[in-house]
Amino acid sequence: MTAIARREEQLWSRCAGCASLLYRKRLRRNLDVCPECGEHARLGAPERLRQLVDPGSLRPLSDLLPEADPIDFVDVLPYPHRLTAARASTGLAEAVVCATATIGGHPVALAVMDFRFLGGSLGCAVGELITRTAERALDDRIPLVLVTASGGARMQEGALSLMQMATVSQAIAALREAGLLTVSVLTDPTYGGVAASFATNTDLVLAESGARMGFAGPRVIRQVTGRALPEGFQTADFLLRHGQVDMVVQRRSLRGRLVALLAATRAGRAARAGHPPVPRQEPASRRERLADDDAALARPAGPPAAVAPSPTPGAGQTPAVRDAWDTVRMARHPARPTTLDYLDSVFDGFVELHGDRLGGDCPAIVGGVARLAGRHVMVIGHQKGHTTAELVARNFGMASPAGHRKALRLMRLAARLGLPVVTLVDTPGADPGVSAEEQGQAAAIAENILTLTVLPTPVLAVITGEGGSGGALALAVADRVLMLENAVYSVISPEGCAAILWPDRSAAPQAARALRLTAPDLCRLGVVDEVVPEPSAAAHDDPAETAHRLRAALLANLLPLLDVPPAMLVRLRRQRFRRFGTTRGVNRAGVR
Ligand SMILES: [Zn+2]
Repeated sequence: MTAIARREEQLWSRCAGCASLLYRKRLRRNLDVCPECGEHARLGAPERLRQLVDPGSLRPLSDLLPEADPIDFVDVLPYPHRLTAARASTGLAEAVVCATATIGGHPVALAVMDFRFLGGSLGCAVGELITRTAERALDDRIPLVLVTASGGARMQEGALSLMQMATVSQAIAALREAGLLTVSVLTDPTYGGVAASFATNTDLVLAESGARMGFAGPRVIRQVTGRALPEGFQTADFLLRHGQVDMVVQRRSLRGRLVALLAATRAGRAARAGHPPVPRQEPASRRERLADDDAALARPAGPPAAVAPSPTPGAGQTPAVRDAWDTVRMARHPARPTTLDYLDSVFDGFVELHGDRLGGDCPAIVGGVARLAGRHVMVIGHQKGHTTAELVARNFGMASPAGHRKALRLMRLAARLGLPVVTLVDTPGADPGVSAEEQGQAAAIAENILTLTVLPTPVLAVITGEGGSGGALALAVADRVLMLENAVYSVISPEGCAAILWPDRSAAPQAARALRLTAPDLCRLGVVDEVVPEPSAAAHDDPAETAHRLRAALLANLLPLLDVPPAMLVRLRRQRFRRFGTTRGVNRAGVR
C-alpha cells in the first residue's frame, strides 16, 4: 500500500450499517453516528468520556493494579501475551476507564468499559477498578454512572472472573443503601456476566440507540433452540418493549438525559437532607404559573394526615350536587384530561421511565421524574387516551402486572432517592385478562399496597377520573388523597355491582347512587381528604383551568408533607388507613 493510499484510508471510514463511505472528521463531529443511516458506531472509553463529561472536569482514577494471571491460563497464546497485545493496541491498562467528573455541573464517578480491550471482558482487574469507583462514589456521596460494553466474564481468569459479578454488585448495593443514584448506560454489545450484574442492577438503565444486551448471545440461543430469532432480538427497542430498560437514547441526547436525571435525584437528596433546593429559573412562559404557586402557598394548607379530613369539600367551596350516575359518565368522558395531559400542563420537564425489569412495559401506567413548581417529584399515573386508537394502545388505562411492578419499582426508587411521589389515578380497574392472572395480578397489586403503606417518602394521590377498585388503590395508599370534583372512586363499577346485586346491569345508575362513589361522599367518609373543584361544567370543558386548580391543590398538600420526617410520615399514613376499621366514626374520632 502506498503512503497516499494509507493516508486516504485514515481519512475515510465505512459505515457498518449502510456501508456508506464517510469522511472520518465529519463522522467524529457527529459523535460517530452515521449521518446517512443513524448507525451508532462503537466508541472507545476515552472518546465516550469526552462526549459525556464537562470539559476540564475529568479526573482519572488510578488504574494501577498488580499484574494478574491468576490461573496461568494458556490457550493458543498465554494470557499475559494477550493482555500485552490489548494494552499496545488500545493504549489502555484494562478494559475499563474510571474517573470522577462533572456532567452538567453534577459531580459523578464514572466507569466506562472499552470493548476493544479483550472484548470488554470482566476480569479481576476490571471488577476491582469498577468496585473502587463505586466506593469512591460512596465516599464522596455522588452518583455512579457505568457505561457498559462487554462480551461477558473473562474466561482466562476462570471462576475468579465470575466472582466479579458479585463483587461489583455488592458495591452497587452499598450505594443503593446510601440512597445514591446508580445509572448504567448499555452500549453495544453488553452480554453475559456484565449484563447479568452491574449493567442491569442499577437504579436506572439507559440503552443507547441500537445497543444489544442479553445474558446469552444470539449465536448460542440459535444453536440451543435451533430456531431463527425474531427481528431486532435483544436490541435497545426490543429491551424497551420487554420492560428491561428505562429508555432508549440517541447518542446526541445521552448527555442531556443524564443531566436531567442527575438534577432530579440530586434535588431529592438535598431536600431530604433538610436543604430544599432552590427552584431553578423558570422560563418566562411559566411566570404566570409561579404567581399561581404563590397564591397557593398563601392559602392555609391542610396539615399532614394527622388531622381528620374536612367534612366540607374543597377550599370552602360547595360543588353543585350532581347525580352520581352523571358523575360516573363525566369521569369516563373521552375528552377528560389524562395523566399525560397533566404531565404536560401541571408539571415540567417530565422524563419518562419505562419497564418492570422483568419482561414487560405496561402502556397503561406512565411514570417518571418531573418538576412541580421547580421541585422534583416522581409522578406515576394510569394513562387512558382520547381516541379509540389511544385507548386501545393503552388498554383503556387498565394496568397489567407489569404496570403495577413498574409503578412499584418507581415508588421504591423515589423513596431511595428522597423524591416525593405523586400518583394520578384514572382506571376502570386492573386488567381483567388471562395473562394478567397468569402473571400474578393479585400479588402485584398486593405488593404495591404493602409497599406504599411503609414507603418512607411523601405520597400524594389524586383520583383524577375513574378510581376503579384494587387497580386504583394500588396507586392510592397515600398521605393525602385528593379527588377531582367529577371523579369517582369505588370498590366495583356500578355496572358490575348492578349485575351482581340487582336483577340486571340496567340498574347501574341506582348502583352508582348506592355505592357513594362521588368525591363529596368519599370526603364525608374520610376516604378522600380534599375535593379539587372542576371549572364550570367539567374538567374537559376547560383543561387549562383544571390543570391550574390541580397544580394549586398539589402544592398546598405536598409542601407541608416535605417537612415531616419519613418515620413520622409512615406512622401517620398507617394511622390514616387504620381508622377505616370503625366506620362512621371517622370525623368524630379523628386519627389519634
Ligand atoms: Zn450508515
